[in-house]
Amino acid sequence: RLTGDGASSDIRHIVLDFGQAAFPVLEGQTIGILPPGTDAQGRPHHPRLYSVASPREGERPRYNNLALTVKRVTEDHDGHPVHGVASNYLCDLAKGDRVNVIGPYGTSFLMPNHPGANLLMVCTGTGSAPMRAMTERRRRRIPLKEGGTLMLFFGARAPEELPYFGPLMKLPKDFIDINFAFSRVPGQPKQYVQDLIRARHDAVWRQLNAADCYIYLCGLKGMEKGVDEAFRDVCRQHGGDWEALLPQLRETSRYHIETY
Ligand code: NAP
Repeated sequence: RLTGDGASSDIRHIVLDFGQAAFPVLEGQTIGILPPGTDAQGRPHHPRLYSVASPREGERPRYNNLALTVKRVTEDHDGHPVHGVASNYLCDLAKGDRVNVIGPYGTSFLMPNHPGANLLMVCTGTGSAPMRAMTERRRRRIPLKEGGTLMLFFGARAPEELPYFGPLMKLPKDFIDINFAFSRVPGQPKQYVQDLIRARHDAVWRQLNAADCYIYLCGLKGMEKGVDEAFRDVCRQHGGDWEALLPQLRETSRYHIETY
């Protein structure tokens, strides 16, 4: 379990061991989980997709495994109670249980091969999974001194709800520039990732204009519009034009979105 005791959400870090099976994945890809059993109409459950949260060599290198970040779904986006079939199945697994997996999927939400490229990552909640994979890949390569800066904007309800809060806090400041936005801390104003993007406009503007900066957005669908507007404001503030910049970023595969 990744979330704190007082947290309202139950988020798990789940490691799947592939044993002798070949299952190569890259950071940013997803895999499908097939929950066992059938729905009320007797049909098999649909597969559900989860982002790989570990780097390509696995959660533990040379062990042929990978990690997922799974939040137990107990309510829909409007707060009505629902039972998430796949997430509850995954969160209730016991060590050693066998899981049916398909995939991997994803051909575009991938890291640049150039190790010195900068990454600007914006995520909410469990949308942090691919960012964790990319960050871990870079962290393990720190000794190689390949360059490239990481900047992360991470939105969560409160510190207790933030997956990977502890480990993220321990990363060296010159390795990754982390900006947390908390939306439900009593006595504090609601903050979203887009507010922090505006607050850090100088650094964001520099990244938006760096030829080797790659941008990744992952998490709630609602953040897309807010982040787009924040980037537009940052550009306007610096005399730039987001409408002109965005197509360039897209054409050069430097702007990636995965929201649900
Ligand atoms: P959550 O806890 O409900 O929300 C995370 C944060 O985002 C909260 O602070 C929330 O603020 C904020 N937020 C809400 N609306 C926003 C908006 N319009 N702009 C910016 N921030 C906003 O998130 P979650 O339940 O973890 O959901 C994450 C999403 O990521 C899900 O849709 C999931 O399907 C998706 N995802 C998951 C994976 C995976 O591998 N598990 C991979 C990729 C994507 P409030 O206090 O206002 O709610």
